[in-house]
Amino acid sequence: MIIVMETGVKEDQVQQVVDRLEKAGLGTHLSVGEFKTIIGAIGDEKIVRELALDALPFVEKVLPITKPFKLVSREFQEQSTSFKVGNCTIGADEVVVMAGPCAVESEEQLLESAEGVKAAGAQILRGGAFKPRTSPYSFQGLEEEGLKILARVREKTGLPIVTEVMDQHTVGVVAEYADIIQVGTRNMQNFYMLRELGKLDKPILLKRGLSATIEEWLMAAEYIASGGNRKVILCERGIRTFETATRNTLDLSAIPVVKHLTHLPVIVDPSHGTGNWRWVPSMSRAAVAAGADGLMVEVHPRPEEALCDGAQSLTVEKFEALTEDLDKVARVLGRRLKKVD
Ligand code: PEP
Ligand code: MN
Repeated sequence: MIIVMETGVKEDQVQQVVDRLEKAGLGTHLSVGEFKTIIGAIGDEKIVRELALDALPFVEKVLPITKPFKLVSREFQEQSTSFKVGNCTIGADEVVVMAGPCAVESEEQLLESAEGVKAAGAQILRGGAFKPRTSPYSFQGLEEEGLKILARVREKTGLPIVTEVMDQHTVGVVAEYADIIQVGTRNMQNFYMLRELGKLDKPILLKRGLSATIEEWLMAAEYIASGGNRKVILCERGIRTFETATRNTLDLSAIPVVKHLTHLPVIVDPSHGTGNWRWVPSMSRAAVAAGADGLMVEVHPRPEEALCDGAQSLTVEKFEALTEDLDKVARVLGRRLKKVD
């Protein structure tokens, strides 16, 4: 339920409502907008109704949240969520670029990638240590050794790291190393894992399931938020359709839709979205133009030697040309790409 306060409400009046809700055993979330103050009540709807808060003169109305996802909905919190990771802020005016190889292959390969993407303007380093592969015979990732390499490369370059977790038993170890924990498309509805991630105070990058509707995706985000972790970044990475010319169909229309429905930041992964490096620059520019808060791009120093997803990886040179373009597109929209020093 949300409690919409009258325009010009005083701080102590807001506090009065918060106190009454909390005394009744409900959680509260305060959202102070430019014109309206809204208090989100977390818990049993019946209890909120029984409090008859709309009888108070400084309460405009008490409304149920109509969407099945509550905490992550714009009804619950009008202003967009933003939070810091390293030196950058996700969900604000900056367009945040995460880049790096699909998989951590060796310390040399990751360091070379990290230095390259950093110089080209990326703010966050990506690299998979636990790899969800379609075939059991493909390279499965360096696992914990990969996490250690990521941590050493972070030490050397100062770039925060985003890396994937594949099951609830490894949430602890991944959380020890990662600055952002990635939930891959195949795990979007791994509800046990989502619950574990909800207990952390660490940003979670939640990829859209390859056949998930936007509502299912937001319900997965709600699992994490309802556990107490509100730092969720949504990542559109393409969905499965009848089309076979691209690896997936990158649903850029999801950006405005999701931004309308939720206050969470939304980024786009054009690498898995298209499966071919040739289509990555144009779809990246389109994603920023459509309002994405950031991008996740696969970059490899020598894509032809990559152990995973070489066909969709940009070289460092191509990535550098792309970030220059992205900054221009972002500036048209009053945003920008922030280079890290
Ligand atoms: C990845 O980012 O390396 C990855 C496996 O992505 P997805 O889960 O979107 O396929
Ligand atoms: Mn990949």
